[in-house]
Amino acid sequence: MRILVTDGMDKSAQAKLAAMGHEVVNQFYEPAELGTALRDFNAVIIRSKTKIRKQQIDEAKGSALQLIIRAGVGVDNIDVAYAEENGIAVKNTPRASSQSVAELAMAHMFSCARFISAAGATMRAGKWEKKAYSGGIELSGKTLGIVGFGRIGQKLCAMAKGIGMTVIASDIYHIPGIEEQLGMQYVENDELLARADFISLHAPAVNGKALICAENIEKMKDGVVIINTSRGTNVDEDALLDALNSGKVLAAGLDVFAQEPSVNAALYNHPAVSATPHIGAGTNEAQARIGEEIVDIIANF
Ligand code: NAD
Repeated sequence: MRILVTDGMDKSAQAKLAAMGHEVVNQFYEPAELGTALRDFNAVIIRSKTKIRKQQIDEAKGSALQLIIRAGVGVDNIDVAYAEENGIAVKNTPRASSQSVAELAMAHMFSCARFISAAGATMRAGKWEKKAYSGGIELSGKTLGIVGFGRIGQKLCAMAKGIGMTVIASDIYHIPGIEEQLGMQYVENDELLARADFISLHAPAVNGKALICAENIEKMKDGVVIINTSRGTNVDEDALLDALNSGKVLAAGLDVFAQEPSVNAALYNHPAVSATPHIGAGTNEAQARIGEEIVDIIANF
């Protein structure tokens, strides 16, 4: 197969594909050129930067293109149904990055509780603001509310339990037996909003009203911490910014933004925000596992 890799991919997995006899080309294309370029390939591997929409599928359909692989979890950057209607299969690597994303969510929880991001920035600016950053809080003994209790939510639960947090979760689907197995409790979303000291989002991009919106923030405890490593559109950024400014929300840890790269400087520069540029799956281990899953997908295709 001729395989196009647009957003980078683990080098050892690329070497394996080459050893299997495939030709791998690393090249990013702007949206206007991508569809035509895809006509020369049998498969394309993308991360989150490349978007394959109806326009690109229309330009590529009827060619050799048979397979789109999203190296990661969310396939919201691909018009999946339209690709499949046109005979192009879409696959992803749903399990490979769960631990890495959960660890980043945990890191943002610690960062928010102890002002790690903001305090580090002031030290780089030559300041020693020990007093300003001495009013932190412990995670132990607090309640973590996980919205979307899938692969990543469950990994986060295990870590949070390990440091003494109480874990509650809301999900549109309840996995039988998991409450006893992981020592957590499913609750209705409104109960989660009212009880949680920390709220971490792990649902896919939800259509309609954002999971974190002004109305839902109202229902939360004063001084709640919000973490989002899911999808940027799950948070109404204006509502979050208002709540950070009023102090209703103590701090927020954000890896994903409504628009990426984010243009919301007021949000990512806010002293109570711990921000990262969508690096949830950005570990050597996750990328190696994603690479292995992709080699398997192509071998089985
Ligand atoms: P998953 O499919 O295993 O779990 C998602 C869970 O959310 C499911 O249990 C589902 O029932 C639940 N859900 C769906 N709609 C819901 C709603 N409206 N309210 C509450 N729960 C709802 O997915 P996952 O692998 O755990 O990934 C979770 C999120 O993390 C996705 O948004 C994914 O795109 C994102 N993600 C981000 C990064 C990153 O780099 N930051 C990397 C990987 C995944």
